[in-house]
Amino acid sequence: MNRALTVSFFLSFSFVAACSAPDVKIPKLSDEAVKAERQHQLEQSITYQRSQTIRLAETAHPLLKLAPIACENKTRYRLGVLLHSLEQYSDHQKPAAKSLYQFDNAVQVNHVLTQGPADGHLQHGDKLVAINGSLLSGAHTTQLKIIKDALRSGTPVKLQFWRHEEQQQTTITPEQVCDYPVLLRNSDMVNAYADGSNIIITSGLMRYAEKDSELAMIIAHEMAHNSQQHIWKRLKNTALGSLIDIALITQGIVSPFINAGIGGNLYSQHYELEADIVAVRMLYKSGFSLEGIDQFWRKIAAIHPRSITHGKLVSHPTTVERVLVIQKEISQLTTP
Ligand SMILES: [Zn+2]
Repeated sequence: MNRALTVSFFLSFSFVAACSAPDVKIPKLSDEAVKAERQHQLEQSITYQRSQTIRLAETAHPLLKLAPIACENKTRYRLGVLLHSLEQYSDHQKPAAKSLYQFDNAVQVNHVLTQGPADGHLQHGDKLVAINGSLLSGAHTTQLKIIKDALRSGTPVKLQFWRHEEQQQTTITPEQVCDYPVLLRNSDMVNAYADGSNIIITSGLMRYAEKDSELAMIIAHEMAHNSQQHIWKRLKNTALGSLIDIALITQGIVSPFINAGIGGNLYSQHYELEADIVAVRMLYKSGFSLEGIDQFWRKIAAIHPRSITHGKLVSHPTTVERVLVIQKEISQLTTP
């Protein structure tokens, strides 16, 4: 051993020896106990994510059904079911997902939307076999494509499926909805954004919007960005437009434009207020309670006080303007 290595070894040994050990004796954990607890926690986290996905889909459902008035020709037909298969889960989730849902290769019904077309026809756990006589097999995306193709015309589809070891059949008439998939992104950031096609809501925002009507307001706001073609208009207004400026809330609410040209900044605050007004109209039309939806912005203001007073150089209006504009629209809609 050379001298440098000897000194290094001696120093490391002295350091470890000098470190304070905990006072309380930590019990030795058996491999079996660790494995069982890990499985339990993974199952819990899958179940929690499922509940978030269902809440998001159920809240978005009445809004997406405003098709075609809320989205013109950007519509599609669907069965109103959330599907899943083992393939969609990450490797470390797969054993827990398999034990929870008894997956084989089939695509399974994860949830049936309340008052959707499949309500009363399908239920959680049904394993899809065929649609209009086309067998469902292969990768998850292949099976979804077969289903999507069968739904394209909007005419009733015949579905064969397994339920409790028994093969059954049903006919479902799909519903027309706005073709804006509302996707859940697993992130603690309180954020939502529209990219012209999809609407992305973070799990952080879902925890923040405690009431479903608050969550609906955010989904409708993002739908309005898509339906009012704000991304396209802003791209048209700027040579260096950046879609990142559409990001909403917390960071987005107080941050100046990033990478966007002056043209792109023009009307940005107006687009936000327009999206708020259109969102209130959508909520009203789809039967959501309008009570307290302005409170969401007051909540944001309390936690991010800069959003109360920031000037015109940021992408989003102040929370003061938002609350007043929303309140005005509510009173116009509800005053006889
Ligand atoms: Zn917005």
